Amino acid sequence: MQSQLPQTANFLRQVELNRKLEGEYPLALFERLGEALLSNEGNVTAKLEFGHSVGFPCLKGKVSATLLVECQRCLKPMETQVEGSFKFALLHSEDEFELLPDELEPLLIEGDDQSIIDLVEDELLLSLPMVMTHNEACSSFMTEQEKEIKAEKEAAHPFAALKALKDDLDNKVN
Ligand SMILES: [Zn+2]
Repeated sequence: MQSQLPQTANFLRQVELNRKLEGEYPLALFERLGEALLSNEGNVTAKLEFGHSVGFPCLKGKVSATLLVECQRCLKPMETQVEGSFKFALLHSEDEFELLPDELEPLLIEGDDQSIIDLVEDELLLSLPMVMTHNEACSSFMTEQEKEIKAEKEAAHPFAALKALKDDLDNKVN
């Protein structure tokens, strides 16, 4: 069992310590994400690394989770695996934003402690697929008619038919 991670931290202090954190957060902590889910049981796996990148204090992170969502086609529950990563430069003022290389996203540091939960949650929300449906056709949802149409399409060989037509035309021209 992996250790549970802190929900907040003084990011710049963690940078000084070159702190690396790896562990889990209970899904129930993420209320905004929870609104898109059928269940908030389970965990989010996170790997966080405080350090420096091209002269900026930064926070790199990787997050992943298996989420239970509603299939948008058959409305039955389905699991979806999401993962994301981020690389933030920790900045004190917006004036520094324009100095950043493309690979770093700006994160404005305010107050003593910052929320890790918010960052992880934002990343998970961004990682949610736009369309959430079962990979395979939802068997109970697909009607017999739909199955037939699909089978017919697969049985037909449009390219073979085109080639036959073309050969036929060529013969006529010659
Ligand atoms: Zn489905």
